[in-house]
Amino acid sequence: MKTYPDIEKRIGEIGRELYASRNKVPSIFNRKRWMGRTMDLAMRDEEFKLNLLRYIDVLPSLKTDSLVAELFREYFGQVENAPLIIRGGAVRISKGFLPLVAARVIRAGVRALARQFIAGEDHREASKALESLWGEGCAGSVDLLGEEVLSDREAAEYQGKYLGLLDFLGPHSRTWKEDLLLEQDHMGAIPRFDISLKVTSLYSQLDPIDWERSVAKAKENLMPIIKRAYEEGASVCFDMEQYYMKDLILEIFRQTLSDAGEYPFCGIALQAYLRETTRDLHDLIAWAKERNRRIRIRLVKGAYWDYEVVVNRQKGWPVPVFLNKAETDRHFEGLTRMLLENADTVRPAIASHNIRSISNAIAIAEELGLPKRSFEFQMLFGMGEALRKALRKMGYRVRVYAPAGELIPGMAYLVRRLLENTSNVSFLREFFAERKQFTEIIKPPEMISGALEENRPRGFTNEPALDFSMAGQREKMGQALEAAKKGLGGKYPLLIGGEEVYTGQEIVSVDPAQPRSVVGRVSSAGPGEADRAVAAALKASTAWKNTSPTARAGCLFNAAAELRKHREELAALEVYEAGKTWRDADSDITEAIDYLEYYGREMVRLGGTLHPGDYPGEINDYFYEPRGIGVVISPWNFPIAIPAGMVSAGIVTGNCVIFKPSGLSPVTGWRLVEAFRKAGLPPGVLQFLPGPGHEVGEYLVAHEKVDFIAFTGSKDVGLRIVTLASGTKPGQQNVKKVIAEMGGKNAIIVDETSEPGETVKAVLESALGYQGQKCSACSRVIVIEEVYEEFLTRLKAAMESIRIGPPDDPGTFMGPVIDEAALKKIRDFIRSGKDKAVLFLERKADGNGCFLGPVIFRDVDPSSVIAQEEIFGPVLSVIRAKDIDEAIGIANGTPYALTGGLFSRSPENIRKVREEFRVGNLYINRKITGALVGRQPFGGFGMSGVGSKAGGPDYLLQFMNPRSISENTMRRGFAPLR
Ligand code: NAD
Repeated sequence: MKTYPDIEKRIGEIGRELYASRNKVPSIFNRKRWMGRTMDLAMRDEEFKLNLLRYIDVLPSLKTDSLVAELFREYFGQVENAPLIIRGGAVRISKGFLPLVAARVIRAGVRALARQFIAGEDHREASKALESLWGEGCAGSVDLLGEEVLSDREAAEYQGKYLGLLDFLGPHSRTWKEDLLLEQDHMGAIPRFDISLKVTSLYSQLDPIDWERSVAKAKENLMPIIKRAYEEGASVCFDMEQYYMKDLILEIFRQTLSDAGEYPFCGIALQAYLRETTRDLHDLIAWAKERNRRIRIRLVKGAYWDYEVVVNRQKGWPVPVFLNKAETDRHFEGLTRMLLENADTVRPAIASHNIRSISNAIAIAEELGLPKRSFEFQMLFGMGEALRKALRKMGYRVRVYAPAGELIPGMAYLVRRLLENTSNVSFLREFFAERKQFTEIIKPPEMISGALEENRPRGFTNEPALDFSMAGQREKMGQALEAAKKGLGGKYPLLIGGEEVYTGQEIVSVDPAQPRSVVGRVSSAGPGEADRAVAAALKASTAWKNTSPTARAGCLFNAAAELRKHREELAALEVYEAGKTWRDADSDITEAIDYLEYYGREMVRLGGTLHPGDYPGEINDYFYEPRGIGVVISPWNFPIAIPAGMVSAGIVTGNCVIFKPSGLSPVTGWRLVEAFRKAGLPPGVLQFLPGPGHEVGEYLVAHEKVDFIAFTGSKDVGLRIVTLASGTKPGQQNVKKVIAEMGGKNAIIVDETSEPGETVKAVLESALGYQGQKCSACSRVIVIEEVYEEFLTRLKAAMESIRIGPPDDPGTFMGPVIDEAALKKIRDFIRSGKDKAVLFLERKADGNGCFLGPVIFRDVDPSSVIAQEEIFGPVLSVIRAKDIDEAIGIANGTPYALTGGLFSRSPENIRKVREEFRVGNLYINRKITGALVGRQPFGGFGMSGVGSKAGGPDYLLQFMNPRSISENTMRRGFAPLR
């Protein structure tokens, strides 16, 4: 054990020794070579870098040479803009060479680039690479690259590949020559090779929300690999993935280890960019000590930094990573010390190419008196070759993380590596490309104030979803469900003029997952109550109209606070009354809060008086007044959000409103009304009037004192309302305004350049989320011929793997449809589909409730009933198209125009679809459901609706009459000059 009075000095000395490795520049930074020049350009020109990465990303999926050439043109335009790696191909294209020749050159260039980072395409090549590393004095860890796993079948394939790899590498590794540094640490023998694996690839439904099942299933699929690794003399490292999965992966790691008995060579990667890692490492060490076992920890900086920042910001969740690279580096040093201080419990692996981080680890180990063998360094294949040689020379074990796999799935990995190497904060870039001075490189990481923190959005922001990766949040939801279940079966009144009114008629609302369970009995209104409700609204209207817009907005903000306070409780109620899964139920509450917050702010914006024009002698006022009395008629599928939006827009603009909820979600409707009451809304401003749509609904629509109707629901009912509202009755003072949001027959176009995994996942979520009962749901997929079969096969496997069951089970992906009538209607459509199209998947679902498995029809005729009519259930029609123009034609070929989507990596196709696919909400390379208030204002046209978009800047205008007053201020030639 040494004590360094000045450890920095020692770090400097070690660093000097390693610094010499800079003289051997890796080829990707060597500007004398084409690869280095390409990287150099990428580092200097952001746009070029983006195009290069995108082109590399799409290239492996391109099935034909002409596509390779075509996409090349789309990304780089002229030859001069082409990256050097593919310049050869570009020149050939420009000279009119056959695409075949050009494509071959381009592919060869990119393959050469990939080869820098990917050790081999199969077991044999990977084994060779490991053997040659061993010959150089380096150990290896093989990571089998793969696409995102979307089905049980793909998970089984992934498992099989690892078993195959172990079978192959085990015997081979035993033939490698003896190398004590690589085979022993200070406590004894260690395996000759290592494998790194991703837990998320072993169970397609892995999700922290479904904690126990995820742990059990992942463990079940992991155990055969661990067992085989034991037999073949390998160690196993669990890679760390996205932050959302972190706690679950740690739990799976601990439980697997407990089950693995004697096997002492399991390890896990921890990421220093996460703020929580100190705590996690501390817990892991304590856990291992308690059990008297050794674990391996690979300490990395973290590879998903951009992802974590973007995704968590989008969700409105705290960003879990440090925003400054220096903070990560400092954290890394603290974690290094913790690891080395516990080298008898953990086998530390310091994974970094940063000379400062490495020197720091060595200096600490020296201080602690640790033998050189007691820990190891890890580096990535293709990076830092000279550095690892220098370390070996100094007597340290280095392990190379060697990805292996086909180029297609490997591309994602390659792109990540390129991004890393060209990022402003990459050590390798600073070291090799920018040739930073030694003093700069070796100094302790400095804190720089985080410019990124200041970029937070201001004003309206969306309410973040609940984070079910947190144990506390899962518990809270579980308790809310218990409580909601106990509270089922209550009686609920109407609300008229602030009075609760019980009538002789009742709507019995039941749980669609268990139709015998009554959620609540809600009084039902008839024409008499409707007249009273209109009268009460009229009575309250003058005072409410004269209430200031700011005070009216205040009521909305209070109601939002009420919903926030009870959000789990309300979500739990929706699970039982509407059959929503945890996440779907939660997002209905957040959307409701968003409407209240957004429209409140919008009213403050619109509430003042404008003075258009600037001329002497006249004053012009422009302002808005409420329309009067409104009726809000809502559907059951977003039982709080949709009425919250329509009701709040109606009242914040100064109108008094009669709200008729759907007969299938009246209890939830009542809870919304309660929130408004608690928010301080004066009596009479909002009435609650459940009742049969064709009776009380129509009565209200036609009522002579009603000035506007805000409706959301089906096309047939919407059109009926438009017709009824156009009639006038004696004594009627206003032409009624109708805002009607109706159904859709939404399509997603999948072209030949789309990313297969992302596309299947998004189509599945768009089609089956809430059992296909979202107005925005995908019910047609139009797929370009080249990728048609491949897409269908993966989609089917993915749909076969999702869980169908009661929605209060957190692992359920699909719950029941809303009621028996819906079930029957959907089954009728399926029957008609069977006559006209090819049934490709029909999953059965168990249970006494209204359950129905997903259905896929393939080769569907675009003009057939199932491709034209809204089904409102988990039934998907897949249609074949020969090219993008035909696909757009089919997509536009229904009277609806609500939502639509495109999956493509072709800039040209994206441009075309933006221009020609005419729907209210178009989504590109993402799912087509889940529009957010203020960010994706929602609503369609055609037969999908009349009105401005909900959650957008024009919405409130529909609830008001604009007025203009012009006063001549001139008297006998005298006018005030402003
Ligand atoms: P629905 O049309 O059957 O019922 C909607 C509401 O209208 C209910 O409150 C119902 O009681 C009432 N109603 C029924 N008949 C009526 C009549 N004759 N006069 C007055 N009111 C009447 O729709 P639903 O089944 O509740 O909801 C599903 C439909 O809603 C789907 O078509 C879906 O696409 C559509 N939807 C559209 C949007 C959108 O924003 N475009 C959002 C959600 C749902």
